[in-house]
Amino acid sequence: MNSPKQLIEGFRRFRKHHFAEGRVQFQDLVQFGQTPKALVVACCDSRVDPALVLDCAPGDLFVIRNVANLVPPAENQGHYHGTSAALEFGVRNLGVQHIIVLGHAQCGGIHALLEGSVDKEKSFIAGWMGIADSARQQVERMHTNASSEVRHRACEQQAILVSLENLKTFSWIRERVEHGELALHGWYFDIERGELLGYDAATQKFEPL
Ligand SMILES: [Zn+2]
Repeated sequence: MNSPKQLIEGFRRFRKHHFAEGRVQFQDLVQFGQTPKALVVACCDSRVDPALVLDCAPGDLFVIRNVANLVPPAENQGHYHGTSAALEFGVRNLGVQHIIVLGHAQCGGIHALLEGSVDKEKSFIAGWMGIADSARQQVERMHTNASSEVRHRACEQQAILVSLENLKTFSWIRERVEHGELALHGWYFDIERGELLGYDAATQKFEPL
């Protein structure tokens, strides 16, 4: 499923099943608007579609996807902040109650961060992955002699924690969390083992959900 022709055929099946057969109440979603309860920050990786992995329907999830599912810190320097703008809309306009940072195994962005496989002068990816540089530094410090697999997994998970911290640099997120109106979650989809792990602040580990 990747040629435009196949994608158009896919849309026709979607329209038949979801509109004609009413599997999803699109009329309600159109008439009353979207009211998703959860916002997911996921990676662009084609294998980790949040709606598919979490078995959700249109209207269920407000999804932000970027390279390595990173949340930048709040800043206002006149740059183009796509992720921050989407967070603002999800939190302030839609009033989501949960934000889930959904990392995953075999992340290409984290691979580039750890292996330095992109040209920092010319690459948008290198600049973007700088958000997670503190995760890289911690992994290099704590897993100096570990295998590539262990280092990558540790960095994929540590980067989720960096994003959770960065979420709290947005005042309208921090205030809602403090008032109990919004909960932040760090999840890790292990595409090799078919498992979903969640960060447990008590054990400071990612545990199966
Ligand atoms: Zn990824």
